[in-house]
Amino acid sequence: EDQRLSIKKFNQHQLESTIDFLNRRYFEKELQSALIEGKIDLVYQPQYCLNTNKIIAAEALVRWHHPTIGKISPGQFIPLFEKSGLIIPLGKWIFDKACRQLQYWHSNGYEVKLSINFSFAQLHQENLIETIIQTLTKNKVDPAFLVFELTETMTIHNIANFISIIDDIRTLGIHIALDDFGTGYNSLSYLAQLNVDVLKIDKSFINKINNSKKDKIVFLSIVSLAKQLDLPIVVEGIETKEQMEFVKKVGCNIIQGFYFSEPIGGEDFGKLLVKMN
Ligand code: C2E
Ligand code: MG
Ligand code: MG
Ligand code: MG
Repeated sequence: EDQRLSIKKFNQHQLESTIDFLNRRYFEKELQSALIEGKIDLVYQPQYCLNTNKIIAAEALVRWHHPTIGKISPGQFIPLFEKSGLIIPLGKWIFDKACRQLQYWHSNGYEVKLSINFSFAQLHQENLIETIIQTLTKNKVDPAFLVFELTETMTIHNIANFISIIDDIRTLGIHIALDDFGTGYNSLSYLAQLNVDVLKIDKSFINKINNSKKDKIVFLSIVSLAKQLDLPIVVEGIETKEQMEFVKKVGCNIIQGFYFSEPIGGEDFGKLLVKMN
């Protein structure tokens, strides 16, 4: 039955109405049992350096195997967690789990970095910095190996708050990446106002680079913008050799995408590190 209700048959509206009628307490219970039963887990996608031919980082991506709905993609369920506020406990779990995984790789001698996704909604929680420090200490993780990828999922009304939260995070030594750059309404304004360390160009631009002159121009402009700001770029969504060669030619050296590897489990990622690095 789980298969009949698989993700392909569930559009966002159906998904929301299925989960919406559950009240917050029910949803909270569901989250708790999903975490306990391992129905929510992380996979990792390598970020690959075209200069050194090494994996330099992993991006942690959350996965949820719902008992009745089946596999739900984070693009669908993260917004629901944001709406209900449960993104906060989920985010804490994700951060802890990711740090544990990073410590494990490091203890095996692999000095990769780890990128973790945060929505702006997650930055606005009480004791954020204390929680981050506690988790780092507990897992013996060096913050210099962490990148927080920020995605614009909501409109910020008081940007000053976020400027200082982001500065506090950077003071810990954690780097900040602007994720999906170029897709949000406020990408440029955030770039101008927030102190960030990395730009991740959204995959929608690279997807259409061959067919759309406009997308190619936008892509190249972002590359040039990042260069002028001295910001490293990660290009996500590289699926073909042609795309890889194109971005290399225009000076983008860090890529992430199915061409190199899909997101994989922590153990498989460890094996890939042994093979590659
Ligand atoms: P994102 O952070 O931009 O992550 C990249 C997404 O692109 C991932 O989708 C990844 O599987 C997919 N992807 C990677 N390479 C390729 C490729 O070559 N081609 C295509 N077509 N897709 C590729 P995923 O895992 O479904 O995640 C979707 C979004 O959900 C993420 O976008 C991120 O915004 C959010 N998300 C995922 N995990 C977390 C999390 O732990 N916390 C939060 N707050 N958000 C998360
Ligand atoms: Mg990301
Ligand atoms: Mg992205
Ligand atoms: Mg995204």
